[in-house]
Amino acid sequence: MRVYSADGLILRTYRYGEADRIVVFLTEDRGKKRGVAKNATKSRRRFGAALEPLTRGRVAYVEREHRELVRLDRIEPTAMLLGRDSAQLADGAAVLGHAAYFAELLDEWSPDGMANERLFRLGAAVGGALGHVSSVSSLARYFEYWLLRLEGVYPAIDACPRCGRRVLSAGAVLVLADRAYVCRECAHGGPKLSADAMQFLHAAATRTPADVGGVSLAAGPRRELAHAHDRLIATHLEKELRSTRIVKELGPDS
Ligand SMILES: [Zn+2]
Repeated sequence: MRVYSADGLILRTYRYGEADRIVVFLTEDRGKKRGVAKNATKSRRRFGAALEPLTRGRVAYVEREHRELVRLDRIEPTAMLLGRDSAQLADGAAVLGHAAYFAELLDEWSPDGMANERLFRLGAAVGGALGHVSSVSSLARYFEYWLLRLEGVYPAIDACPRCGRRVLSAGAVLVLADRAYVCRECAHGGPKLSADAMQFLHAAATRTPADVGGVSLAAGPRRELAHAHDRLIATHLEKELRSTRIVKELGPDS
C-alpha cells in the first residue's frame, strides 16, 4: 500500500454502488488513474464540488498491490472553472459544456498509468483559461490543435507537402487520407481553410491559451476550423476504436 499526493485533473466520474463514485483523473507525474471515492455523494468535506470535469486539484490517493482501482481519500480544488469575472465574459453553460468536452478528449488520448506531462500541462492551462476567455470556441480550436500536435498527428501549417513550394498562409485544403494541409493548386477537393483560419493556427502555435481565447474569429474561419478538427479527431479516434474492437474480437489469446 502506498499513499500519493498529486496535482490532478478530473476527467469524469460515474456511479459505483449506492453511494460511491469512480473518478477518472489525470496526474502530472503518473498519468491517468481510476479511483473509488467512497461516499462521494455524501462526503462534501472530502470531495465537495471537486468532481466536476476538468477541475484541477491536489488529489490524495492510495494504491494497493494488484488492484487497478486506487482509493481516493481527498480532492482539494486549486483552481475553479468559473472565475469571478466569468459572468460578463463567457456563458456558464458553454464553459461547463466545453470542460466536459476537453476532459473527454484528454481521457481518450491518455493511456492508463502512463505519465504525459505535456498533455497534463495542456489540460491544466486550457482549464485555467476556460472560465476567463471571451471566446470559448477559439479556446476549443486551440485545445484541439495542441492535443493533436502533442500526439504528432496535426498537419504541418507552413509549406504545402505536395509541391513543397507554396506556403499555406494564403489558404489550404485538408486532405484527410494524407492527414495533410495542401495548397489549393495541389488539392482536388476537401475541407477548405481560409487565410484567416491559417493565421489563427499560426497564432495557436506560438501563443498562450488565454491570448488565443481572447480573439473572436469570424463565423467563416470558425466553421472551417471546427470542421477540419472534427474530421481530424474522428479519423484519429476511429482508428483507435477500431483497433480496440479488433483486439476484442480476436479474443484473449491473441
Ligand atoms: Zn502545393
